[in-house]
Amino acid sequence: MLIVMKHNATSQEVQGAVSTIHAMGYQARPMPGSQRTAIGLVGNDGRVDKARLVGLPGVLEIIPVSRPYKQVSREWREEDTVVPLANGTVIGGREVAVMAGPCSVESEGQIMEAAERVAAAGATILRGGAYKPRTSPYSFQGLGVEGLRLLARAREATGLAIVTEAVDPESLDSVEEYADIVQIGARNMQNYPLLRRAGRSPRPVLLKRGLAATIKELLLAAEYILSEGNPNIILCERGVRSFDTETRNLFDLAAIPVVQSLSHLPIIADPSHGTGIRDKVTPMARAAVAAGADGLIVEVHPDPSKALSDGAQSLHPEEFVEMMAQVRGIADHIGRPLVGPLAGARQTV
Ligand code: PEP
Ligand code: MN
Repeated sequence: MLIVMKHNATSQEVQGAVSTIHAMGYQARPMPGSQRTAIGLVGNDGRVDKARLVGLPGVLEIIPVSRPYKQVSREWREEDTVVPLANGTVIGGREVAVMAGPCSVESEGQIMEAAERVAAAGATILRGGAYKPRTSPYSFQGLGVEGLRLLARAREATGLAIVTEAVDPESLDSVEEYADIVQIGARNMQNYPLLRRAGRSPRPVLLKRGLAATIKELLLAAEYILSEGNPNIILCERGVRSFDTETRNLFDLAAIPVVQSLSHLPIIADPSHGTGIRDKVTPMARAAVAAGADGLIVEVHPDPSKALSDGAQSLHPEEFVEMMAQVRGIADHIGRPLVGPLAGARQTV
């Protein structure tokens, strides 16, 4: 439920409504907007006595929120959520942010070279898994904390922000210490204790769509994070399971504008896991930006033939330079230019 205040409501009137909500046994989330303040009532068990709120000074109207994902919905918050990072990149604003790097952090030489190449091509965020949720227990599981240290070193050298995955609450403790964005992967999209833990993190969260998750399930997963108090969530379309085996996943481009109408949260696209095939990544990156994605996350490896994970879908650095040039043309054309490049990055564009 939303309590919408009149545009000229005083701060005492807003405080009065907040106190009444508390006295009724619910939580209040005031959201100052450009026109007026709205107060979200959290914990609505269906028995809220609206009469106590309607007549309060400064209250304009009471709006029920019909979506099951309350705080994530556009009904709750009309304005887009924008997620700012320490290196100046903003996700969810007018500009399109690009995250790039290897699937896994493998060695200091590998991550440093990847970081320099993607920064030079214009990316502002470095991806790379230190904890890898692999389908087989015998596959490379990641370097753990050592991988996080290498990512931090790459950030120091290039100015790139870092996004890396946490696979359980323990790894999240370490990831939030080192990273700018905590990634929750597709396999963990419905790991509710992990989502709640991410909701208590001071870091923004990149939440990837589950392997066979509906859009509603994705938004409800985000609600777990938001309901714990973390408003900085970035959603990610990365393809879903289908009957067709020609691509690794079925990349659901329509999810981008659908999510944008249902939710105020930014949504980025992952054409690497979305297709699983190197030469399909650039066409789908172009398509995602044309569809309105707020950003891209793309796998790039200095030598994909030697990659310890996802080599077949990783771009060579030169291919990433070309992808950026193509995507930049589309982004400029639709009035949503790419973020960056970082000041000081040696440019190859
Ligand atoms: C990844 O980003 O490398 C990854 C494991 O992605 P997903 O969770 O989407 O499979
Ligand atoms: Mn991967």
